Amino acid sequence: MQFYSTKTASHKVNLEEAIFRSLPPDNGLYMPEHIPTLSPDFLSDIHNKSFQEIAIEITHTLLSDDLSREEVEHIIGLAYDFDAPAKQITEDTYVLELFHGPSMAFKDFGARFMAALMSHFLARSEKDLKILVATSGDTGGAVAQGFFDVPGISVTILYPSGKVSDIQEKQLTTLGRNVRALEVEGTFDDCQKLVKDAFLDTELNTKFNLASANSINIARLIPQSFYYFAAYAQLKQMGKPIVFSVPSGNFGNLSAGLLAFRMGLPVAHFVASTNINNSVPRYLESGVYNPLPSVETISNAMDVGNPSNFVRLIRFFGDDHLSTKEKISGYYFNDVETSEAMRILDQKANYVACPHTAVAYLGLETYRKESESEFIGVFLSTAHPAKFIDLVEKTLGKPIDVPERLKNLLSLPKRSTKITSDFSQFKTLLISEL
Ligand SMILES: *Cc1c(COP(=O)(O)O)cnc(C)c1O
Repeated sequence: MQFYSTKTASHKVNLEEAIFRSLPPDNGLYMPEHIPTLSPDFLSDIHNKSFQEIAIEITHTLLSDDLSREEVEHIIGLAYDFDAPAKQITEDTYVLELFHGPSMAFKDFGARFMAALMSHFLARSEKDLKILVATSGDTGGAVAQGFFDVPGISVTILYPSGKVSDIQEKQLTTLGRNVRALEVEGTFDDCQKLVKDAFLDTELNTKFNLASANSINIARLIPQSFYYFAAYAQLKQMGKPIVFSVPSGNFGNLSAGLLAFRMGLPVAHFVASTNINNSVPRYLESGVYNPLPSVETISNAMDVGNPSNFVRLIRFFGDDHLSTKEKISGYYFNDVETSEAMRILDQKANYVACPHTAVAYLGLETYRKESESEFIGVFLSTAHPAKFIDLVEKTLGKPIDVPERLKNLLSLPKRSTKITSDFSQFKTLLISEL
């Protein structure tokens, strides 16, 4: 498979280059040159397949030029010992739980595949790799878990001091070994700037083989399509069209849903659900993309003013606003509405949801009111509620269950190195490890 840059269609690279570069030199995004469709036989029999079997088939269909079937099986086997169950909420509504991986957020699906794929290519080339990643919360935990103890790869995570939840911080700072956490006295933007500056620094790039694990990497997009197929496999026997509501920030998750759709997954409609950082719902409404600075909300993993995957999202529709809008409805909700939805889900369906999941539920309900048709609605649950325990308990007015895995984490000692947002200090620290 060749991947082209959304900015320069003639710039094409193979899979290995696309994943290690992450971004094309012209600052566009990599997209698959053509999107193969799955065989009708596979789709009609999909309800008999496991998550792993589905993931193998999709990966093989997309990447058969780059990986043999055995290599694909090995990568999927390494990446996934968890899956994505769909649970019933009301007669025609299901929640697709994407938090059963090691960091208990959906980012595990992307991070673990990327780690397995990168180490596959590294094993061939025998060069060590240094991954740099800035995180505002969930990405760091998923990347840390995904790359933990992967031979030939070290990970440096930068996070803003005091601005991530206790559990999120422990996920970054307790693993050790090849995973190191830098606690930056500054904001998430400062962390991201340090990482960007490192990629631009000639000296660092000569000394190290640097790579990024951010959400625009095509190696994170592809595996996020797996669970849309897995949801279909669980629900197709009901014989109704399926609508997905996706709680969105950088729009990697929804873009992966569109990839699944283009590969032939029958999806009646998508709902782009956001908090008041609503650049995409406003674009769908008006046809004008006018990103605004991000605003803090209780669904903070979606506090994104200028979503990095927007270009990819519209590219799936040939950059045409009307066709995009025909397939995707956009709705946005404020914190009061989100908290109320968390209480409704708890009281009426006995379901404890994190705030991001509640936003997806609201989007689905809003679309249902506007739509005349009958369908199975699936809202995606992107994180376990206990990752946001203080907020969830305060909103619901009661204690919630915390999985053992998260409880144990809280008792482990934190290990991080404090740095300022000054680039030269960061650089010296990286070089001193040589
Ligand atoms: C990252 C994240 C999102 C947003 O996903 P995008 O792919 O950036 O749209 C939503 N919910 C949670 C819990 C997240 O961690």
